[in-house]
Amino acid sequence: MQFSRLVRAFERLEETASSREMTAILADLLREAEPDELATLCYITLGEIAAGYREITLGVGVRTASAAIASAFGLPQEMVDAAVRSAGDAGDAAAALGGAETRIFPGVFTFGDALTVDDVHRGLLRVAVAAGPGSEDVRREILAAMIAGAAAAERRYLLRLATGTMRLGVGDMTLLDALATAFLGSKKRRPLLEHAYNLCSDIGYVAATLAAGGPGAVERIGITLFRPVRPMLTQRVSRFGEIFEKIGSAVVAAEEKYDGERIQAHKDGEEVRLFSRRLTDVTGQFPDIVDLVRTHIAADSCILDGEAVAYDPETGSYHPFQRLMRRRRKYRIAEFAERIPATYRVFDVLLADGAPHLAAPYPERRRILEALLRPGAFIAASGRVVTTDPAVVADFFEACIGRGLEGIVCKSTASGSSYRAGGREWQWIKWKKSYGPGLADTLDLVVVGANAGRGKRAGTYGSLLCAAYNHEEDIFQTVCKLGTGFTDEELRALPEMFGDAQAGSMPARVMATDQARPDVWFVPRYVLEVLGSEITESPVHTCSWDAGRQRGLALRFPRFVRWRREKDPEQATTAAEVAAMHRGRGKAR
Ligand code: ATP
Repeated sequence: MQFSRLVRAFERLEETASSREMTAILADLLREAEPDELATLCYITLGEIAAGYREITLGVGVRTASAAIASAFGLPQEMVDAAVRSAGDAGDAAAALGGAETRIFPGVFTFGDALTVDDVHRGLLRVAVAAGPGSEDVRREILAAMIAGAAAAERRYLLRLATGTMRLGVGDMTLLDALATAFLGSKKRRPLLEHAYNLCSDIGYVAATLAAGGPGAVERIGITLFRPVRPMLTQRVSRFGEIFEKIGSAVVAAEEKYDGERIQAHKDGEEVRLFSRRLTDVTGQFPDIVDLVRTHIAADSCILDGEAVAYDPETGSYHPFQRLMRRRRKYRIAEFAERIPATYRVFDVLLADGAPHLAAPYPERRRILEALLRPGAFIAASGRVVTTDPAVVADFFEACIGRGLEGIVCKSTASGSSYRAGGREWQWIKWKKSYGPGLADTLDLVVVGANAGRGKRAGTYGSLLCAAYNHEEDIFQTVCKLGTGFTDEELRALPEMFGDAQAGSMPARVMATDQARPDVWFVPRYVLEVLGSEITESPVHTCSWDAGRQRGLALRFPRFVRWRREKDPEQATTAAEVAAMHRGRGKAR
């Protein structure tokens, strides 16, 4: 497929304000693709060049991008720098600038008369993997060769791709809807694709399998070592007693809930890889956990699910998430591993010695886990009680809070308590310590817009428009305007942080009323955690929108808690969860 064809679709995607049209535009595009280019097309549409979990990420700096533009057109560097600064986007600058002469870059990177999708992918892949001395020159020259051979509109998206600033607002579910429409006749068939995606976390692979082998082949996609499985999530309740009403088994396993980082460990012999909640490869961050998995697991191969948590081995107490996050760094990793020891608390096993165990009920998976895990000071299965008695669970909860834990996760022991990849069902229910007056739990919301600040907040934003995720419709519905809880420093950082998310008009997957309209719109990208006092009906916000009554739900008195950079927008609190909190009136116990 010609790259220009893809660019036409991107332009239409940016123009549309309707998520249905977005799906239709994508479905047309996917139908036209050759089976062997489908995977690439999916990655590029998502602004990537490989499955998200692979360590091949683009992120060419503005300096390199500007140097490539200057080199492509034989223009003075200062002129290009000024154009990029004033456009605020290397892609727009590259589209506006043109060369007096088209330069030829012999041998660096060659392609035919016009760029194809495959050329762009091949070029960007080389840019992404270039490493070592001289790699900066290689990156610049490959980019320059592509820029010189591209038309204006192509240059815009080529550079946005290279610099990691695509903002089409296409999410995984939109793309799965489009694939279902294109190949299975209706987006109603998305669940089949979504299930496979939950197991392999690679939309490109699902798309290619679908095109080559049809729905039967997609059904056969299973879990595989070194391809992360989308994690099973927890439900929340607003009353303690509801746990036992909803969980679906008389015997409940209440496990310690750790406030750390979700880590899925894949082991094959000596090779170990770790994946985060967002399915990024975090192996390099946790050399200590890699070692523990290598030495404490009596299985040749396995996939474990658990939480890494900052831990004090002397006192046996746990530290909160923020402390562990200090280990998220590029340099001095070993030093920080010593300064902030982490323990890996394993709560599930998805595969052992080559056999998948997702379908096995929780008690059986736990037995398998305990049989293969040799516990040590820094690795152990999650602590738990198994009981039919709510009072025992309540005592266990209090004891957990006393030890610095966040709360408990109650798990069903029913015969159907399989591991539901990517699912958020009643089999796992969290109960956290209350945050004081107001809602018993925080919400993770997606920022979709902002109002300009005035007075003391001039130059930054006065408030952020926040939305919950509606999974059924694959859209973001607003639920509050958030202006409190930020430090001055956090406030000052907002405009720069959101620079790469700005959109000219309301993004297609955002639903907002005129009354909530912000000064600037953002494509859904950044997730934050908020605390609120209660959830009420509102004509202003669209969360869980009731079209008949023209009313949605709003979070009152929201207060910023922290950024949730490890979460994708689609992993935010869902509109259905907000509605459930509203029904339960979401008060603390
Ligand atoms: P969620 O993961 O539900 O979207 P979140 O990241 O805000 O939301 P919480 O809602 O607080 O986290 O709780 C769920 C998370 O708790 C899990 O994703 C997991 O990382 C963590 N967790 C800690 N201990 C356990 C446990 N014993 N069993 C399952 N999950 C646990």
